[in-house]
Parts: sequence; structure tokens; C-alpha cells
Amino acid sequence: MTLRTRFAPSPTGFLHIGGARTALFCHLHTRRHQGTFVLRVEDTDTERSTQEAVAVILEGLHWLGLSPDEGPFFQSHHTQRYLEVVQELLQAGHAYVCTCSKERLDALRERQRENGDKPRYDGLCRELHLPADPQRPHVIRFKTPREGETLWEDRIQGAIRISNGELDDLILVRSDGSPTYNLAVAVDDHDMGITLVIRGEDHISNTPRQIHVFKAMGWEIPDYAHMPLLHGSDGAKLSKRHGAVSVLQYREEGFLPSALNNYLARLGWSHGEQEIFTRAELEQLFDISALGRSAAIFDQAKLLWINGHHIRAATPEQLLPELAYQLTRLGVEPPPSPETLATILPEFQSRAATMVEMAQKCRFLFIDSVQPYEEKAARKHLTTAMRDPLAALAATLETLPEWTIAALESAFQSTLETFHLSMGQLAQPLRVALTGCGASPGILETLWMLGQDKSLNRIQAALDHLAARQP
Ligand code: GLU
Repeated sequence: MTLRTRFAPSPTGFLHIGGARTALFCHLHTRRHQGTFVLRVEDTDTERSTQEAVAVILEGLHWLGLSPDEGPFFQSHHTQRYLEVVQELLQAGHAYVCTCSKERLDALRERQRENGDKPRYDGLCRELHLPADPQRPHVIRFKTPREGETLWEDRIQGAIRISNGELDDLILVRSDGSPTYNLAVAVDDHDMGITLVIRGEDHISNTPRQIHVFKAMGWEIPDYAHMPLLHGSDGAKLSKRHGAVSVLQYREEGFLPSALNNYLARLGWSHGEQEIFTRAELEQLFDISALGRSAAIFDQAKLLWINGHHIRAATPEQLLPELAYQLTRLGVEPPPSPETLATILPEFQSRAATMVEMAQKCRFLFIDSVQPYEEKAARKHLTTAMRDPLAALAATLETLPEWTIAALESAFQSTLETFHLSMGQLAQPLRVALTGCGASPGILETLWMLGQDKSLNRIQAALDHLAARQP
């Protein structure tokens, strides 16, 4: 049987980091076993679902490279089908009409609480065979077996058995005629031919309810794998309080999708001592059954470390969209061409732990002026004593027949000799003039990347600045 998995987010907010991990695990496991990965948007909760959330989830998945093989499918398009299944369940005696009022149910629950019993429906309408009279408010409930237990061999958690007596008579259709979550999930998992349901362990309590629907309909039950949840470093379930939890916020903070995927894959899964994985390696090695059962702890420092690795190892194609994105965020509009960015990338790749940092470091190349200068660097290096050497260097640079590292080096060296300066004595003032601050790639590379016109303009601007500062 070919493997079919699905990721089934509810569009009630952004794609959070826990959801992304579920999607990643579905995706990787599916690739490893040459299956099909389906995306299903669970938008049956019309009050809380929004189009905006759908768009953000799709964007997050796309950015992570987790786009589905099939879908997105929307549960809101399947209402008719869910109601047809309910008709079948009613006819076969697996479901029943319940007309109990809210007041009765509230009072029942109150009584049960007082007696220390678990609140649950008492089954008053279960054997009454009430008709579905549109004039009379009613819900449709599933007739949950009272005896026996529901048992499945979870691919992560091992054998799970839940006594049927623990379960309520689940509502399948609400009084407003809308189908409920557990019904919709069971019908879709069947209709979409899902063979393995991978989801968070917070859904374990739903699984027996869904299995009951499968059994009542005579459908083949899929396998289940319930993943341990993500916790923050304080041990509590991961939430906004722990920092960024939206996937797209990680993009804004300069993480690469490959690094985030690598990091998320390692949360709960390992392959020997290896920490750094390419996507291709993960697709080859990952298996959901190898996942540990304890909660995984999210550790931002490790993510940063992995990100640095991925930045250094990345191909230009992987980095260019992220660098252009970050430069745009820093106000470089329009972003430089991919060719330009590809030329300068190698100079910055080893110097940045995030793409934000990389963009900040190379921004000076793409702006019109680097003034005002970083105050401390300018005060220290851009002294009046440097006026003549900078002017002489500019004159030499202006006549250079070619703008190559070798030609720049000889121009630079001859200025050093003329003025009896050490490398650093000229390089630092020049760096401030060219970049506005005291740190950049090698000074010759910096000149080379800027090009002749920009370099000369910036040296001239520094000389003007020095002249204006003269008493
Ligand atoms: N829609 C559910 C959620 O976002 C997931 C349901 C499932 O995977 O079965 O939590």
C-alpha cells in the first residue's frame, strides 16, 4: 500500500513552529517512503478561521519548502459529504438524534461535577429513535460503544488502549447543522486515502472517537503516529512567551529555511551524533518511528548555531532570495540584481550568523551615502592627518586602467610607501570612508565590490567631511 500522509492545520492563526515541525515530519517521512503528502485546511470553525490565516500558513509552508503533493483541500467545501455520512450512520443505528436542551445538559454537568464524576452526556436520547425534526432543535450524536476498549499501535507512542466507557457520545452535527471536527477528520482521512496520520500528541484523545467512526462505516483504519509536543526551555508548552513562534517571524529574523528544518528535525529525532543535515539527507534518513517519546525542548541558541552552518554551506541560489528580502527590509529598494548579490556573497557568507546580520553588513554597498559615519570609528580613524594620503590614493584609483584586486593592491601599496604608513593606518580610515563604520571585508575586496565610481565618490565625501571639520 502506498503511503499517504496529511498535514491538517486549522487556519485560526499563523503557522507556528510546532505546526511546522508536524508538517516537516509528515513531509520527510513521506519522501523517505515515496508516498504522497496531502495538505488539508481544517476550516470548519467558521468563527475563528480566516482567509488571512490560510494565506499565512501556505506562505510559511512554501518558504520552508513543504508544499504538498496534493491540496490544499478545504474542509469547508466538504460539508455535504460529512452530512451524507451522518445519514448513513443514522440509518445504520450508529448515530442518533438528541434533543436535550442546553439547560438540561448544564444541570447534568453540574450534578456530575458535584458528585466528582467526569462530565458527560448520560445517553437520555440514545434509544429514543427521535426523528430529525427541523422544527425541533437537536444535535446528532454518535452512539459510542459502552463496552470494550479502543486500541491502536501508535507508531511513536506504542500501544495505546482507551476504555470505551471513558468516552462521551460525541456530537457529530451541531444544532445549527454544522458538522464537528472529529466527524470531518475521520471522513476526510478516509476519503483522501490517508494511510498514516501524523499529528501532535494533544490529539490522542480524539483518536478513539475517530476510530469509532471508521469502524461504524466499515472503513479501513489508518495508522497513527502522535508526536511529542514542543516545550520552551522552562519546560512549559511552547508559546508566544518563549519568543518567536510564527514560522515567518523566523524568516524576518534571518533564519534560513534549511536551518529551521534541520533544527526542527533534530527535535526528538537523531541520527548518531550528526547535527547538520541537508534537506536531501533528511529525506533519506528520517523515519517517524524513530522519534523519541519525550517532549522536545526548543533552544534558540542551538538554532542560531545551526543557522550559521547553513549560511556558510549554502549555495548562492539558497541565499539570494533571503538576502534580497532582508535588504528590502533595510530599505534597499529595489533590491540588487541576483548577479550583483552572487558576486558579493562569498565575502559575507562566513561573517554572518543570520541573514539579517549579512544584510546589515553588506547594505553599505547599495546605498547612496554612508554618512553620518559611525561616530566612534570616524573619531578614531578619520583624522585630518589622513587627508593627504586619502586624496593621493583617490588620484591613483581614478587613473587605474582596470578595477581588479591586483591593480587595487598596487595602488594601495604605493600610497602606503609614499606616506610611510602601515596597512592598518590607511585601511581603517578608508574603511570608514567607504562603509561608514570600522568593520567590513578586506579593504581591497571592499573597494572592488563597491566599484570605481562609488569608491571615488565616498573618498571625496570623506575629504569634504574632513574639510568641514577643520577649525
Ligand atoms: N486541525 C488540527 C489542528 O490544527 C489537526 C487535526 C489533525 O491533524 O487531525 O490541531
